[in-house]
Amino acid sequence: MADDPSRVAATIDLLADGKRHGYLTVPHSSNESAWGSVRVPITVVQNGAGPCLLLTGGNHGDEYEGPIALMKLARALEPADITGRVIIIPALNLPAVMAGTRLSPVDGLNMNRVFPGARDGGVTAMIAHYVTRELLPLADAVVDLHAGGKTLMLLPCTVIHELDDPDQMERSLAALRAFGAPYGLVLRELDSAGMIDTTVEGMGKVFLSTELGGGGTATPASVALAEAGVARLLSHFGLRQDAASDGRGTATRLLHTPSPDCFLTSDGRGILELMVELGGAVKRGDPVCQIHGIERPADAPSLYRAGADGLMVCRHHPGLVQPGDCLAVIASDYPRS
Ligand code: CA
Repeated sequence: MADDPSRVAATIDLLADGKRHGYLTVPHSSNESAWGSVRVPITVVQNGAGPCLLLTGGNHGDEYEGPIALMKLARALEPADITGRVIIIPALNLPAVMAGTRLSPVDGLNMNRVFPGARDGGVTAMIAHYVTRELLPLADAVVDLHAGGKTLMLLPCTVIHELDDPDQMERSLAALRAFGAPYGLVLRELDSAGMIDTTVEGMGKVFLSTELGGGGTATPASVALAEAGVARLLSHFGLRQDAASDGRGTATRLLHTPSPDCFLTSDGRGILELMVELGGAVKRGDPVCQIHGIERPADAPSLYRAGADGLMVCRHHPGLVQPGDCLAVIASDYPRS
């Protein structure tokens, strides 16, 4: 239960003024280390009373803008730069980030499917439980930086969910716009169980995620957007009074995925041929991609058509696909933009 004391311990004071680098120590007895632990790096920068922002990266271990931008921020940010508190965890699922894999190699779990976590779960669930029980109550807003990982490539976007509470929705949209990404996705998840997103949203707080690229790598542009977006959020949430040094980001084009038809899922296996560029516009019924069965060249490829009008915001990244793979996502303009 989330109410039970965590088995994870922070090596630093999370509540005192100043700047501290430390670890969240997660007990992990293994063949390699009998009384060992997984140590998740954490940095706290605090200057007096004020808003508290929790910044996380490496929720999935093959997404790199978050870890890069947040390690740089953890080194650079000083208490005198802010009013309030910033908690920075660049590699939330540390074992996954160390392995360069989406899931943790320790227990095979997806960090963003185990929230609110479990005190007596494995390493991944114990980290999530600590975040839920000890960190989320401190935070006024949470920003979890993602990208597409090795298997997906996305347009650079910030992501929020459609929320029932109009005030929380407005605050979330304001944060999304403040980040300044070219695109903002108001997402309806295929499966939202166990996400940090819904855990934070359920507490009535602002939660912002990103999808800043993908393919298991980062680019100069995607890292620059992560850094500038986070800097703008420090101003937006009132931790910094000065405007971010590079000013506002671009105006964000709001998109959404109102129906499951927006997601194209593979029925077969073979070589993926995309017929639309990432960011390309399609009409409902337009060809988006086809799958060539490698061992049956005489057979026509399986054609996949757009289920909605919109932009292709996400594509499968590797050339080979399997049944059940997400091939592409078509997002439509959000009606409130
Ligand atoms: Ca992700």
